[in-house]
Amino acid sequence: MGRDAHGGVLVAGGGIGGLSAALALARAGRRVTVLERSSELREFGAGIQLGPNAFHALHSIGIDQAALDQAIYVDRLRLMNAMTAEEVTALDLGAAFRARFGYPYAVIHRGDLYRVLIDACSMHQSIAIRTNAEVVRFEQNGSDVEVVLASGERVAGIALIGADGIWSGIRRQMLGDAPPRVPGHTTFRSVIPIEEMPEAFRWNDATLWAGDKCHIVHYPLSGYRLFNFAITAHNDATEAVSGEPVDAGEIGATFEHVHDTVKQIIRHGRDWKRWVLCDRDPTHHWVEGRVALLGDAAHPTLQYLAQGACMAIEDGVSLGDAFGFFEDDVDSALLVYRDLRVSRTAQIVLKSRAMGEHVYHPHGPRASLRDAILRSKSDSELYEDLAWLYDGGQESKRYFDPSATPNIEQTEVVSA
Ligand SMILES: Cc1cc2nc3c(=O)[nH]c(=O)nc-3n(C[C@H](O)[C@H](O)[C@H](O)COP(=O)(O)OP(=O)(O)OC[C@H]3O[C@@H](n4cnc5c(N)ncnc54)[C@H](O)[C@@H]3O)c2cc1C
Repeated sequence: MGRDAHGGVLVAGGGIGGLSAALALARAGRRVTVLERSSELREFGAGIQLGPNAFHALHSIGIDQAALDQAIYVDRLRLMNAMTAEEVTALDLGAAFRARFGYPYAVIHRGDLYRVLIDACSMHQSIAIRTNAEVVRFEQNGSDVEVVLASGERVAGIALIGADGIWSGIRRQMLGDAPPRVPGHTTFRSVIPIEEMPEAFRWNDATLWAGDKCHIVHYPLSGYRLFNFAITAHNDATEAVSGEPVDAGEIGATFEHVHDTVKQIIRHGRDWKRWVLCDRDPTHHWVEGRVALLGDAAHPTLQYLAQGACMAIEDGVSLGDAFGFFEDDVDSALLVYRDLRVSRTAQIVLKSRAMGEHVYHPHGPRASLRDAILRSKSDSELYEDLAWLYDGGQESKRYFDPSATPNIEQTEVVSA
């Protein structure tokens, strides 16, 4: 059988990870079929933070500028103490940050980022995206993979990428491991028209109020037309939930203990929805024969470093680089992709947990210690603390072409 027999590479799941992978594979010369179970391609309507590493990855798949055009470049990463309303630190994200990391720190509506990915995929004749295509299982014989859809249809390819999210059925069939861990944290989300937020609080910052067993994040969104809240409580929730409506009374009671200023801000949110957060311990079992996991299916993480989607995009880029390098040797491409990505994503999963415990949710003396440590650091010291995160993710570029300079040249960016 020739290269890209049958449907080329199959990607189960058309989320941010699946579409990034499709784009990277197509740019590496592969034919790709994305199988998405939903009847339409759309993302949940809330904000997402993207660090410079995400833009380096988006650059590799040709859509950094399109994403930047939809994003807001926030001025600071601002940490406030939610119990006292005092500022702890405000990291400058302006010219010095952009020069250091090559891209801005930005916030973007998930739907806008998703639209950029769909538009780019639709310009590639070698990418087919099918909706109403739920993958229920796979079979493989060493050189080909076949998936069975809920309709009974079979689709064949040379490899299958399981980009089917945190509840991945591909992972379940491959590993048979336990369901994701529920560490007892709940995030409530709300997006409001920006006019509903008093001007005094419309900061052009990614603001995080860290309080006793809770934190509150807010930032402007979508060309300053919207204002985004993601507020989290370590409330010992035991059951995974996704997007369930919540009444304002529960929000008030859950955040009753924070400073009045913070309560005043939260009060402007409405139509709240709840996510009970999950993650998994890292594993290197991402590949079985011609099947590999990617994004949340491989390494679901708590969002405390705001990196889950950034990691899914980076995964896609590494996968495309590996397929480009190994050409017909699909087995090696999948194994090297895994080897390039496991330790970076494991670091994200474990450090996200630590961020929650030591930076976002401590109380009493541990919170005072956090404030003292962060206050003692200059911006340039904090930049270097973040360098592993924002300079990272380009392992595949270095691996496949050691002579190449990673993509850290200064990009032409304008203030949004
Ligand atoms: C509250 C919260 C805030 C977050 N904030 C950030 C942030 O600021 N920055 C950041 O980088 N990340 C953030 N994340 C993480 C980010 O949302 C995820 O890591 C990212 O969306 C994962 O993308 P994915 O494509 O791997 O999975 P998903 O987005 O879950 O996509 C999986 C896709 O597969 C489809 N699917 C599922 N099963 C099947 C099947 N059997 N057959 C076919 N299709 C299937 C689904 O319909 C879906 O379209 C946050 C997460 C949460 C919960």
